Amino acid sequence: MKTIFEISSSGRTAVEIPEPEVPEEEIVLEQRDELNLPEVSEIDVIRHYTALSRRNFGVDNGFYPLGSCTMKYNPKINEDVSRFSGFTTMHPYSPEKLVQGNLRIMYELQEYLKEILGMDAVTLQPAAGAHGELTGVMIIKAYFESRGEKRNKMLVADSAHGTNPASVSLCGFELEEVKSTSMGELDLDDLKNKMSKDVAGLMLTNPNTLGLFDRNVVKIAEILHKNGSLLYCDGANMNANTGIAKPGDIGYDVIHVNLHKTFSTPHGCGGPGSGPVGVKKHLADFLPAPMVAKSREEYVLDYRIRKSIGRMKAFYGNFNVMVKAYAYIRAIGAEGIRAVAENAVLNANYMRVKLMKHYHLQYNRICQHEFVLSDEGMPNHVTTLDIAKRLLDYGFHPPTIYFPLIIHGAIMIEPNETESKETMDSFIDTMIGIREEAEKNPDLVKKAPLTTPVTRLDGVQAARNPKLCYPC
Ligand SMILES: *Cc1c(COP(=O)(O)O)cnc(C)c1O
Repeated sequence: MKTIFEISSSGRTAVEIPEPEVPEEEIVLEQRDELNLPEVSEIDVIRHYTALSRRNFGVDNGFYPLGSCTMKYNPKINEDVSRFSGFTTMHPYSPEKLVQGNLRIMYELQEYLKEILGMDAVTLQPAAGAHGELTGVMIIKAYFESRGEKRNKMLVADSAHGTNPASVSLCGFELEEVKSTSMGELDLDDLKNKMSKDVAGLMLTNPNTLGLFDRNVVKIAEILHKNGSLLYCDGANMNANTGIAKPGDIGYDVIHVNLHKTFSTPHGCGGPGSGPVGVKKHLADFLPAPMVAKSREEYVLDYRIRKSIGRMKAFYGNFNVMVKAYAYIRAIGAEGIRAVAENAVLNANYMRVKLMKHYHLQYNRICQHEFVLSDEGMPNHVTTLDIAKRLLDYGFHPPTIYFPLIIHGAIMIEPNETESKETMDSFIDTMIGIREEAEKNPDLVKKAPLTTPVTRLDGVQAARNPKLCYPC
């Protein structure tokens, strides 16, 4: 495929400007010439970018069961709503009284999230899950500092998303890992052994990245609280719990959620995202300022957060993403929010039971929103990477692979609630077919993908020396 510069032809254009009504003036176009912009007709521009878009894969192309990422369908009504001119033409410095409607959306979104999460206050500032973690851990740090307690350690489960240890380190805490049991839950003995007066808190993902609900979570909260420590919930996997279990009721003190996962706003390609953080009352004074508040019948930006950790994001955060999540929550309502979780869990278990007959499943329990297979016992040394690449040939985006790290050769599948039985069946049949190919024709599987714009890449080289056009 040629680049847009290669299809350029001098003097060709996509616009036609009417004859001028004023006398023509000679102007110097030196700078424009230096820019060497491509000159192409409208149809060539359309074909070029349409062709480029087809070389990529997205939720609108096909099944995208990327575990831990909740690649659900993004209802198009969210996009329509977010493009209303009242949202897109507003200047971030507009006075509060001119953006009452926008502030109301933020306020109500905070309220909905408080209800769904069982928390007392929510900030919408963080721009991603990892940014929410940073905010949450900074709040934990500020909380202990304000009490004059020196606690310099944060605990993280060994099955945690890589962002958890990163957030802990970035906040200047010492990191300590807590082991998982053979049932895929946090090892309570290991946790108890690691409790000391230095421990500020524990970051726990529940359901965890194995797709399993940690049944000891109430006990875990008690152990932490008895020690004066706080419990942080990585709520990126909230899709399995919305409308069913409230993290605040379970005993968590802080949580972040990803609007770009659970609340159906698009993600991938680096955002924009939104990672609101919810906290219990005792931490509300530390939230980033400003918060959106309601004073009599007016919505205001409240800067009087007494011990605020400060601003985490310029202006309002990623407002456009909030509008999409707001539209989603309003469209499906409380019953819909619960049905999301029920169907996400049902779909994952349907696929788990069908696939465990053909692929190794280490933690064989009823799962939540996802489950983790592995390449253990695959014939002819066919690996997880081979299986993932072969799926591309059949038009599926591969699941998350080689994560979580505690399962060797992990294949982490999350169908979420928006997929039909037919789509899941088709993926299941393809996975079974690949297992048969691994037996009968392993060389083929090891060479995959064979039908994509580029075939198997050297992953390390591709990341270090990207070739931005192919073949070229
Ligand atoms: C996605 C995810 C994160 C990080 O969220 P980002 O928006 O990608 O920064 C953190 N924890 C878990 C469990 C996740 O799945």
